[in-house]
Amino acid sequence: MALKIVDACVNCWACEPLCPNGAIHAARPHFLIDAGMCTECAGDHADPQCAEICPVEGAILDANNEPTNPPGSLTGIPPAVWAAALAATAVGSSR
Ligand code: SF4
Ligand code: SF4
Repeated sequence: MALKIVDACVNCWACEPLCPNGAIHAARPHFLIDAGMCTECAGDHADPQCAEICPVEGAILDANNEPTNPPGSLTGIPPAVWAAALAATAVGSSR
């Protein structure tokens, strides 16, 4: 079992020092988790430390490829409300 960092990652470095196994590495275009080194923090912490600190929704996936911080979980903004706001901004910027 391992977590995975995907392209929503903004390379902020927040997670890298927290990993008890040194499984997180700076890389381009985004940070990466070595699946062979990630234990999901079992035995070290109650919760995966990278997922706990990551400020970006959707940047880290669990072993089922589900986001550990799904849309709206950090901002508190329901995904439908966010999508509507983006759509309104797009209309406004085209004028
Ligand atoms: S879940 Fe834990 S062990 Fe795995 S990469 Fe994140 S901090 Fe490291
Ligand atoms: S905390 Fe999240 S956004 Fe920051 S480097 Fe780690 S995965 Fe990327």
